[in-house]
Amino acid sequence: MLLPRFSFGVGDRFGREGVAQLRAFVRMKELGVDVAPVWNKSNREHGIVHTKPESLRAEADDAVHSLAWHDRYFVDADHVGRSTVDPFIAACDFFTLDVADFVGNPAPDPLIDDFVDRYSRYAGSLTITGIDGPVPVFSRDIAGIARKYLLAVKEAGAIYRRVEAAKGRDRFVTEVSMDETDSPQTPTELLFILAAIADEQIPAQTIAPKFTGRFNKGVDYAGDIAQFDKEFNDDLAVIAYAIREFGLEPNLKLSVHSGSDKFSIFGPIARAIKERHAGVHVKTSGTTWLEEAAGLALGGGDGLRLAKDIYGQAYGRREELCLPYAAVIDIDPARLPEPGVVQSWTGAEFASALRHDQACRAYNKDFRQLVHVGYKVAAEMGQEYYGALEAHAQTIAPLVTENILEKHLMPLFL
Ligand SMILES: [Zn+2]
Repeated sequence: MLLPRFSFGVGDRFGREGVAQLRAFVRMKELGVDVAPVWNKSNREHGIVHTKPESLRAEADDAVHSLAWHDRYFVDADHVGRSTVDPFIAACDFFTLDVADFVGNPAPDPLIDDFVDRYSRYAGSLTITGIDGPVPVFSRDIAGIARKYLLAVKEAGAIYRRVEAAKGRDRFVTEVSMDETDSPQTPTELLFILAAIADEQIPAQTIAPKFTGRFNKGVDYAGDIAQFDKEFNDDLAVIAYAIREFGLEPNLKLSVHSGSDKFSIFGPIARAIKERHAGVHVKTSGTTWLEEAAGLALGGGDGLRLAKDIYGQAYGRREELCLPYAAVIDIDPARLPEPGVVQSWTGAEFASALRHDQACRAYNKDFRQLVHVGYKVAAEMGQEYYGALEAHAQTIAPLVTENILEKHLMPLFL
C-alpha cells in the first residue's frame, strides 16, 4: 500500500467534519494537485472524546462516499506503541509508530559495537548530494547515535511486526515518529536512524523527526526559520541518500507533525519539496475543532453561549487541561481575557480572537491555545455540544474547509 507523494493528516476531534475536510482535498484536485487525506487520531484523543478507531474509519468512509472521492485516503493510528496499538489494527491502514519514549535508553554495548562495525565505512567525510560541503562523521558519532537510538528503532520494529502479523505486509503504511523527544535530531542522526530502520526491516514510508524550533499546537512556528529551512533541506538530501544506500522504501518521505498553522515554514517546505522533487506528509489536528468553536460563536444564540461557556470552563481548569500538552503549548496567562469580559463579546469578536489571522489585531494566540486544549470541556458536554454542532453545521462547515484549503493545502502544495 503506497502513500502518495503528497499527503496531509487531518484530525477531527468530534468526528463530524469529515465531509467539510474532504472538500478541501477535492478542491485541490480540481486545481490539479493530488493530496491524499489521512484521518489521524491518537489513543489519548480517542479516550478524551470517547471515540474508537472504528468510528474514525466510518467517518472517513462516509465522507469519501458522499463526495465520491475515488483516490487514496488513509486512517492513521496516530502515535501508537506496543501497548496501545491493538484496538487500531482492524480499522487503520496507516500506523504512526511512536518510539520517542525509548530514545535515549542506552543500547547494550554488543549491539552498538556491531552497528559501528557495519557502518564505520561511512566515517570520515561524507558527500551527500544536496548538502553543501562534506558532512564530517566520526566513529564515535556513530557509536553515540547507536547508543541513543538503537533501542527505539528496535521497539519500532516490534510494533511494526505486531501490525504486520495481524494485517499482512503490504496492507498498511508505516510511519516512524520520534518527534515527541526533548531535542531535535540532526541530519547525521537521521542518516543512522534510517540505517537502523533498514536493519530492522521496517518498510517505513514516512519518518517524523523532531525539527529545530517549537511546534506549538494550533499557532505559528516559533524558532529560527533559516535554521529550519537548512535542516529540512538537509533531511531531504539524507533521505534520498539513505534510500539508495540502505535500500529503504523508494517513496520514503519526511513527516512534519503539529503542522497546523505553521505558516512561516510552509514557504520553505513548499520550496524544498518542489526543488528536490520530494514528497512530504504534514500532520495536523485540533484546528478543525477550533473552527467548530469559531463557527458556534458566529452562529450566535445558543452556539455563542456554548462557545463562551467552553472558554469560561477552560479558563478555570487551565492547569489541568494544559498539563498533558505542556511540551507543545506556550500560554501567557496574563494575556488570557477574563471570562467575564468574554461574556460581553459578540460572536464576531469571539471568532476574531480565536481564528488564526496574524494580521487581525483582535487575534489572541494565548486565547487560541487555551481553547485548543479545551476540547475536553466540549467532550464532557456530550450531546449538548453535538446538538450545537448540528444546529450550526451550515456556519461551521465552510470554515473547516477554508482553514484546510486556504491556510494549509494551498500554501504547501500549490
Ligand atoms: Zn507527533
